[in-house]
Amino acid sequence: MSKYNYVTRECLFCGTTDADNHPVLYPRNFKDEDLNEGVFSARRTNSDHFHYEMVKCKKTGLIFSRHILTDDALNELYKGSVVTFGEQTEFIKRDYWKPISGYVNKWNKGRSLDIGCSNGFFLEMLKDNGYAEVHGVEPGEEPKKIARADVRDNIVTGFYGPGLYPENHFDLITCFQTLDHLSDPLGMLRSMYHNTKPGGHVYMIMHNTLALQAKIFGEKSPIIDVEHIYLFNKSNLAELCKKAGFKVVSSFDVANGYPFSYWIRMSPLPVKKLWVGVFKALGLYNKVLAINAGNMGIILEK
Ligand SMILES: [Zn+2]
Repeated sequence: MSKYNYVTRECLFCGTTDADNHPVLYPRNFKDEDLNEGVFSARRTNSDHFHYEMVKCKKTGLIFSRHILTDDALNELYKGSVVTFGEQTEFIKRDYWKPISGYVNKWNKGRSLDIGCSNGFFLEMLKDNGYAEVHGVEPGEEPKKIARADVRDNIVTGFYGPGLYPENHFDLITCFQTLDHLSDPLGMLRSMYHNTKPGGHVYMIMHNTLALQAKIFGEKSPIIDVEHIYLFNKSNLAELCKKAGFKVVSSFDVANGYPFSYWIRMSPLPVKKLWVGVFKALGLYNKVLAINAGNMGIILEK
């Protein structure tokens, strides 16, 4: 008897999961007992690489988990998730700000929302760069506690969805590393469209299934993970955003600059201790290396 119930997800474009057009890419590699809250924490340090059965749409390249936990079970696991990227926060802030830095000064810096805002790191950026109002939604209860005092009160603990904010309300909605965790990404995009002001913008970052990292590491890539339900590339992501009503302003690769110590920890390299020694000996262990690690960004307009 399984501890969890599973539901079947359909291709977002074909509306089916027929095996002819959606053959298995990687078979499931875990048992129910392996699942716990730690597996669902953002940027956890031990990369478990559990994943569901993952299939790939022959027509669109969409990669998705066919049989997943129910939303109720997933929500429970996410609620207990904790912030594990503390030391990388400053690097992430800078990397995620860069792609919109050239746009924001032309945009109205009124009301903004960050969905899945974690400890509010991007709310700090928005506020420090002139946004009049910054709001955040985050399912985990822990991250809010360590948010900066001046953004903490505008963080709602819970899940983003219809009814949470008014129609035509935000000048900018941001959402990082979240869309590919959702069982209904199109529903989320439609809610975002509803909440965005006409002429307002959405800015998202997520993994790219056609990035070099995903190609090189295949099943060992960190993106092939139980947390990810639908995984996109630039073209099928743009298609889905258009389905929700948006115009695509720009889509691009996002470089991440982290210290070598981070890359070594997150990489699927064998004998990590040996590499740590090598990079320490070379004096590079704490040096920052910026590479296109496999993230893409998209800017949308309503
Ligand atoms: Zn399909």
